[in-house]
Amino acid sequence: MKGKLLVIGFGPGDEKHITGRAKEAIQESDIIIGYKTYVDLIKGLIGGKQIISTGMTEEVSRAQEAVKQAELGYTVAVISSGDAGVYGMAGLVYEVLIEKGWKKASGVEVEVIPGISAINSCAALLGAPVMHDACTISLSDHLTPWNLIEKRIEAAAQADFVIALYNPKSGRRTRQIVEAQKILLKYRSPDTPVGLVKSAYRDSQNVVLTNLQDMLEHEIGMLTTVIIGNSSTFFYDGLIITPRGYQRKYTLNHAIQPLKPHQRLQKEAEPWSLEQTEDVLPSKNKSVTAIAVKESPRALAEEALQMILGEIQVHSSDQVVKQDFQSIFEIAVSPGVANKKFTAKQMMTLSEIVGEEGSMEYTQDHFMKLQILTTQPDDIVEKLTSTNFLIAPVGDVLTVKACDFCDGEKKDSIPFAKELHERLGGMELPKELKLGVNGCGMACYGAVKEDIGLVYRKGAFDLFLGAKTAGRTAHPGQIVAEGIAPDEIVEVVERIVQEYKQKAYPNERFYKFFKRVKQVQGFMHQDITPNIKIEVPICGE
Ligand code: SAH
Repeated sequence: MKGKLLVIGFGPGDEKHITGRAKEAIQESDIIIGYKTYVDLIKGLIGGKQIISTGMTEEVSRAQEAVKQAELGYTVAVISSGDAGVYGMAGLVYEVLIEKGWKKASGVEVEVIPGISAINSCAALLGAPVMHDACTISLSDHLTPWNLIEKRIEAAAQADFVIALYNPKSGRRTRQIVEAQKILLKYRSPDTPVGLVKSAYRDSQNVVLTNLQDMLEHEIGMLTTVIIGNSSTFFYDGLIITPRGYQRKYTLNHAIQPLKPHQRLQKEAEPWSLEQTEDVLPSKNKSVTAIAVKESPRALAEEALQMILGEIQVHSSDQVVKQDFQSIFEIAVSPGVANKKFTAKQMMTLSEIVGEEGSMEYTQDHFMKLQILTTQPDDIVEKLTSTNFLIAPVGDVLTVKACDFCDGEKKDSIPFAKELHERLGGMELPKELKLGVNGCGMACYGAVKEDIGLVYRKGAFDLFLGAKTAGRTAHPGQIVAEGIAPDEIVEVVERIVQEYKQKAYPNERFYKFFKRVKQVQGFMHQDITPNIKIEVPICGE
């Protein structure tokens, strides 16, 4: 009768993280072979079985012994911590078998049982540091030449892999981790988050969050796995997180702006993809930066002043510590709320800021949308505001879309348009919202075709709500009030916007919201959907 070899990875070390099949396989076996410490870790599962446990350096003799016992007809469990196929016993067992001319069909049966490797268990304790393309590198040069290990560290560092260093250090091998750090620092920021996890899921478990610069100041040993983040990995509230992709952008309101699911696969969101023919932005160094941008230049200046005066130390949202790398900064600019004329100086500033690599797009709502790869968004904001640009965040925000008030000739309502911009412009909402303000009854800039429209006429405002701006079923907004006094209008609009902000579903456009709730701030919705059925096309068809 032929025996069987069960090559088992038992996970990080506690019983809960051993797989069902691994437990079963231990039960099935007659003999357990493994390093003594490992056998001790799973003592509870072994019962009265015969145990052959030897020292660490005798891995080959353990594999040989296992093969011998299996050939004698026994079912033999060979145990490794983590996964047996990751710097474990699986490869060795096969090597010994192959040496003896073993064949799958005629030789002893072999089953490799997967386990949770240190990269996974340690990552789980740190948060989500792996997440993206990652590799494991063992710093042990007992079985691998150091110059090959060096090459691998270099290549992984260069290619922005998240790296899990196994066997980082032992009593005798202390220089390897120092050399590894040196190589990594050639390619990665000293601030790169690093997690040191010792004895994950064992009694002496210890988790340390540090960075590439300081990692050697902490204890690292035989039972430590060192996880090094990539260029977009960040710390958050005692965790290390690597985002799923590099598509984080930031705009005026946000340091981090993850794209919504429906935006992820859009062409503009992937300027670096192989399929992109026109290279909007260069494909290297897409990562995030440390600077949180405040709502308005004024708020920014005030905060800077407060910091100098020592009134505040750290902004409450600054729990997010990120690295100083380039990221896509998105911002929209226009010459003014009413002013539609760019100066030559403004055009020159734009061309200087955007440069060869950024992009500049003219939008439907009279803004230039800029996409710039930078580590210094506040410098850009500073340059734009000092050239008298009106700046606005990009995304699901409120935009005031005013007319030019006949080049300022019909100027009476300009102050209200400006106040609306100052009070509500850039406000984050469930979906982008355009507020059209036109300075006379001609409404030639199409205020009634916006989500909310205001038309100034005979010294007062007419209010239009809920236009559907696109599609074959597009329609203007409904006139819900005429003659609202100028000193009331800002407040009326603000209340409508607040109600939308609070009650709308995520991604629900204003016209849909108005139709669903039927009444906003006392203004009634009337169903004006035409009786004929219109087929609604799917975008892109
Ligand atoms: N087969 C194992 C790896 C064995 S090599 C696996 O898949 O996890 C030994 C190295 O693994 C150690 O030096 C350490 O870097 C890592 N390691 C194994 N178990 C660990 C644990 N519980 N906590 C942290 N690191 C561990």
